[in-house]
Amino acid sequence: MISIERALEVTLAAVEAAPDRMPAEAIPLESSLGRILRENIDADADYPGFDKAIRDGFAVRLDDVSSVPVTLEVRGESRAGQGSEVSVTSGTCCEIMTGAPLPDGANAVVMVEHTEPVPPRHVRILRAARQGEGLLRRAAELRQGERVFSEGKRIEMADIGTLASFGKAEVRVSKKPRVAILATGDELVEVRQNPDAGQIRNSNSYTLLGQVLAAGGEPVLLGIGRDNLEDLRTRIGLGLKHDVLLVSGGVSMGKYDFVENVFAEYGVKVLFDSVAMKPGKPTVLGTRGQTFVFGLPGNPVSTIVAFRMFVTPVIRSLLKAADHGPGTLRARLEESTKCDPARTAIVPALVRFDGESYRIRTAPWKGSSDLAGLSRANAMVVIPKAEGSLKAGEWVDFLSLE
Ligand code: AMP
Ligand code: MG
Repeated sequence: MISIERALEVTLAAVEAAPDRMPAEAIPLESSLGRILRENIDADADYPGFDKAIRDGFAVRLDDVSSVPVTLEVRGESRAGQGSEVSVTSGTCCEIMTGAPLPDGANAVVMVEHTEPVPPRHVRILRAARQGEGLLRRAAELRQGERVFSEGKRIEMADIGTLASFGKAEVRVSKKPRVAILATGDELVEVRQNPDAGQIRNSNSYTLLGQVLAAGGEPVLLGIGRDNLEDLRTRIGLGLKHDVLLVSGGVSMGKYDFVENVFAEYGVKVLFDSVAMKPGKPTVLGTRGQTFVFGLPGNPVSTIVAFRMFVTPVIRSLLKAADHGPGTLRARLEESTKCDPARTAIVPALVRFDGESYRIRTAPWKGSSDLAGLSRANAMVVIPKAEGSLKAGEWVDFLSLE
């Protein structure tokens, strides 16, 4: 049995050593949300590309509005997308809209709320303007050629818009690793079936599917394998053709837990098969050729914990994501919490932000089969292996479930 920290080191070292991580592909911008960039992105031009108004109002010369109120002659207008031929000279101004280019001669924009019309061709300026007020100078946001995103960045919601503003109709991103998902167990029936006595529905394939999608992989469902060597050989054989294979169940000490035997038959090189964590102890990681092979404990919450600790980092590392740790955050315990002297515990928890830091407490749940209990929580808290208890107010790691 190895510690969580050691298991993570072994896991990351194995992916980093993999000769072929995911190749890059060009995809349309529209489908790039959540993908990992495989090119550096530099500003294609200055942003903004011209001195522009950020208020609706009047483009003026500062000298003209140093003492107010003052009445100025309105010489034309500058509209967004069109600009203006007008030159603002002493005693004059130009009507201007947000996003329109600043006319020659002007060096501030007084917002319309601080003016009143003097028909037919004048306007009264009621407030003095400050240097640069109401406008953004060319390149104030970005200079042409400035680095904006580096390879390995995940494309988030605002990033898609930024890429659009740079004219990136296509982006180079990592291909998604294909992640095969195999549930095992003689007691399992599919989601559309009604379980008979002693049977349960297969839920792990679906939580794993969700986790694979969230981590940036492409899930491939391989259905349910039965607890016998022949069936497992066939299905695990199929699974080994993918970038990652996840097998849930069948890795404990039960008489019919054959998954590790079949891994051995296929020559899977096992890196660890027991981690000092609760739940999730019988987690297996192995490699075979280019494929990363996981045996995940069958209990629904154990599966989720093991995935989040070890599979997420593998998928994100295969994707060459810059950020590929398990993604733990820090919170303060709201109440005293008992530790396990033998294993680190990772349990469902409720986390909230109190304005200063995250505050967390364990959620009510009935053990590692209680998937609904986990669904009602919004985090998992890491309680380090230790004698005794952690006190209220102490800092702990947690994994967000949102
Ligand atoms: P195992 O790891 O195969 O010993 O399974 C441990 C527990 O998890 C047993 O109670 C199983 O019935 C349950 N289990 C295994 N696989 C699944 C699955 N795909 N969906 C829901 N529960 C499962
Ligand atoms: Mg089983």
